[in-house]
Amino acid sequence: MSRFGTPDRFKASDNSVWVEYRQLSIDYKPVNLGQGYPDFCAPKNVTKALANAALSPNPLLNQYTRAFGHPRLVNVLAKLYSKILVRNLDAENEVLITSGAYEALFVTIHGHTRPEDEWIVIEPFFDCYVPMILSSGGVPRFIALKPKKTSDTITSADWLFDKKDMEKLFNEKTKGIIINTPHNPIGKVFTLEELQFIANLAKRWNTLVVSDEVYEWIVYEPKRHIRIATLPDMFERTITIGSAGKTFSVTGWKIGWAYGPENLLKNLKIVHQNSIYTCVTPIQEAVAVGFEEELARFGQPDSYFVCLKNELLTKRDFMAKFLTDVGMSPTIPEGGYFMVANWIALENKVRLEEEQDANKDYRFTKWMIKNVGVLGMPSSTFYCDGHKHLGEDNVRYCFIKDDENLKRAAEILLKWKSQK
Ligand code: PMP
Ligand code: GLN
Repeated sequence: MSRFGTPDRFKASDNSVWVEYRQLSIDYKPVNLGQGYPDFCAPKNVTKALANAALSPNPLLNQYTRAFGHPRLVNVLAKLYSKILVRNLDAENEVLITSGAYEALFVTIHGHTRPEDEWIVIEPFFDCYVPMILSSGGVPRFIALKPKKTSDTITSADWLFDKKDMEKLFNEKTKGIIINTPHNPIGKVFTLEELQFIANLAKRWNTLVVSDEVYEWIVYEPKRHIRIATLPDMFERTITIGSAGKTFSVTGWKIGWAYGPENLLKNLKIVHQNSIYTCVTPIQEAVAVGFEEELARFGQPDSYFVCLKNELLTKRDFMAKFLTDVGMSPTIPEGGYFMVANWIALENKVRLEEEQDANKDYRFTKWMIKNVGVLGMPSSTFYCDGHKHLGEDNVRYCFIKDDENLKRAAEILLKWKSQK
């Protein structure tokens, strides 16, 4: 073994689909419907707030701020979530600011995992959960969401987990379950009944629940986002994770948070204070201003949360139509800004043999990038090694993109489809 080889705990995660597909987008310049970020300008009030913070006569706004979160930001988050959770969230002790939701997930998983602890992960899953579990010495246990309908229009509500299988996964080694609602990549918004089922198991087996809610503000009517932390006796065992990048369309700002009871946040803080220590001050200040303004217009038509989801609804429907016209079968998402589509009906139009990857969806997406000019993500990336076949027939497209780019993608795909 080479002296400087990768330690075993990181070996299973030496490839990143994001790194690889970002490079493909640079090399081939397709219309990029891959990685989840907007390709249009962020809201002016928050970008102005960042400029104001950086240029502020207050010199401290460009210096280290409080380790566990800039006071103005933890205060406004506590105020907002206190209103939503209908309980008094303590800004100092029950909120932690992190470097994106990624760090919140990392410090949660690393802070709470002892060797051999089991984490239940719902497939498909946002791909970083598993490397984080493995590198912390934990063991992931999987249960899949599967579409229970195969005809006509499928929505994300048709993707269900088997309750008996879920029940069987819980045991005395289970440290917790990670849920993601609204869900990436399916767009599923978990129902009260599903969340209550999970909550009951978590209580019965005395486990944690990690609730990744980075798309919490992007839920399409009539669906409603339900926070598992609001169910009876669940706050005590839930760590909820959010992202400023997703909330204000500023993914490059990399500010996220975790909230939950003080005793559960303690382990997160220990990992955070010795790795990141504190997050970027002027960006936290700007995110705080954004939230203060949102709180003042909460639920009103000029709220950014309301405007963004209305804009995204139009984009979602536009994408669903052009993917269907091309011959794919999309799952209509109830939340978030991704759409998975089954591409198998197009298999005879692509030359999969020209690509080398083991999984069909990787070959499909790469062939499309190079020969057609549209980039989507291979869906099997959101499944564990043994279950990749469950995702191979699907591709994930992102629709938080400029209308012009969505139109361009539609034109390119339809033109390609009409060619013999
Ligand atoms: N969780 C999910 C479900 C995501 O899609 C993402 C990607 N934004 C993250 C966490 C990480 O978010 P951030 O960019 O704030 O680190
Ligand atoms: N969450 C985003 C997505 O799913 C971005 C992930 C990433 O770039 N690492 O596309």
